[in-house]
Amino acid sequence: MKSEKPLPGQIKAKKILIWLLLFAVLLLLARIGARHYFRDTPVKPGTFSVTIGRVFAQWAVALLLLQSVLAVRIRFLDRIFGLDRLLKFHRASGIICFLMAFFHPMLMYLSGLKKAGPLSSDQWPEAIGAICIIGLWLAVVSSVWRKFFDLGYQSWLRLHRITASVVMLALAHMFSIESAMRSGWIFACWLVVIILWVCTIAAAKFFFPLRFASGESFVVSSATEAAKNIRQLNLVPAKENAIFDFLPGQFAFISFDNPQVAKEEHPVTIASAPDDRENLQFLIKGVGDWTKSLSAIKAGDKAKVIAPFGAFSPFRYEVDNLILIAGGIGITPMLSILRQLFHEKAEMPVKLIWSYKTSAEAPCFEELETLSRNYSSLEIIRVVTRESTEQKESGKRLDREALIKLVPEYRQGCLVMICGPLKMMKDIRRYLLESGYPDSAIVSEEFAF
Ligand SMILES: Cc1cc2nc3c(=O)[nH]c(=O)nc-3n(C[C@H](O)[C@H](O)[C@H](O)COP(=O)(O)OP(=O)(O)OC[C@H]3O[C@@H](n4cnc5c(N)ncnc54)[C@H](O)[C@@H]3O)c2cc1C
Repeated sequence: MKSEKPLPGQIKAKKILIWLLLFAVLLLLARIGARHYFRDTPVKPGTFSVTIGRVFAQWAVALLLLQSVLAVRIRFLDRIFGLDRLLKFHRASGIICFLMAFFHPMLMYLSGLKKAGPLSSDQWPEAIGAICIIGLWLAVVSSVWRKFFDLGYQSWLRLHRITASVVMLALAHMFSIESAMRSGWIFACWLVVIILWVCTIAAAKFFFPLRFASGESFVVSSATEAAKNIRQLNLVPAKENAIFDFLPGQFAFISFDNPQVAKEEHPVTIASAPDDRENLQFLIKGVGDWTKSLSAIKAGDKAKVIAPFGAFSPFRYEVDNLILIAGGIGITPMLSILRQLFHEKAEMPVKLIWSYKTSAEAPCFEELETLSRNYSSLEIIRVVTRESTEQKESGKRLDREALIKLVPEYRQGCLVMICGPLKMMKDIRRYLLESGYPDSAIVSEEFAF
């Protein structure tokens, strides 16, 4: 994997630059807003809260615009951050946006300049603002406590898309409530931001290459049980076109045309290697309604695949030494990576540490054994937590002591990739950091947004 690619830490510079740009835009909007209000309203204890309240409102609207940019699957941003991380940031910035919107009216009323009480008919802009806050509250509560309210992912998604329409209401509130927002620099700046926002969303939806493909048609060529509760689905292109390009470790959104399987898009890692130009493989563990219903999928069923997504791939960096740590079904990106390295006859040292409960739950067991025999610089260590045999590190967990024994000291050019349950990934990252691995040499992917 030697080329012009960056070292593991170097992509961070691009990320930091984008964050700084974003922050600068937010600061600029707040600064223009604050300058305008401080000039118009002398800073006295009462009016100070009004100014802060107005700045909060403008930040909330700017963050609200950003929300859709983060969620609309823009290829350029996905390549740098990975869609999974963008969606996590979308969640965090959504909460900040709600808090700012929530405190905005309180700060306004705190000054005494605005009187609290029932809204009269000419206060429709305030009413729109109140609806926005309720919409944001609903979006945040249903996202953060989705499991507590026993809300299925698809029902939540529908509700979330409805609450997303508050962005229009927020803009209507902002421009209608105050004449100052409709003139001068403040208006010009907001107009530029809104035009950029509309263009970005439109480009991401309609124009190649900013957007992802709308979905390619595939046909299931085989559907088998790869291990206990794990379905292996092999797909071939429906037409004579080749399989799209992707990096080992990336994922796709897939859906199936089968009466027993809900027509929903779910994210699943591509387990096959990009060099396998005829076959796309997925290994899917039954955890909920959709994944369990996949036992009904049979050869000949049609599938739609939207891909590739994600930044979890060693092929993005210049790497000399790879350590792959997988927990259970977290083996799927590692399989794609190992299969590709084997195709390329790579000589780079690779160590796979795979922790799972029992052999019955470990897919592609035989294939990995064959790979380790034929790929001289590949070492596979299995940590089997609920079974004992002579060859395996049995009955153990991948705790600090076990990990330190298994991974050598950090050397320049080494990349550690972790995929598995969230707690396991956090623990392993901590152990590695404590034993001298730099943060930039560790990447991980969680199987949830
Ligand atoms: C980047 C990524 C790669 C993944 N790769 C694999 C893989 O290779 N093999 C595998 O077995 N699983 C993989 N998953 C997990 C898989 O997507 C979920 O297990 C599946 O969507 C669960 O759906 P369900 O209806 O069966 O279960 P549910 O009980 O409805 O969902 C379980 C959890 O999965 C998530 N989820 C459910 N539906 C969706 C959806 N439509 N979009 C996004 N998230 C959803 C939610 O966090 C939910 O809490 C991956 C997930 C991600 C994010």
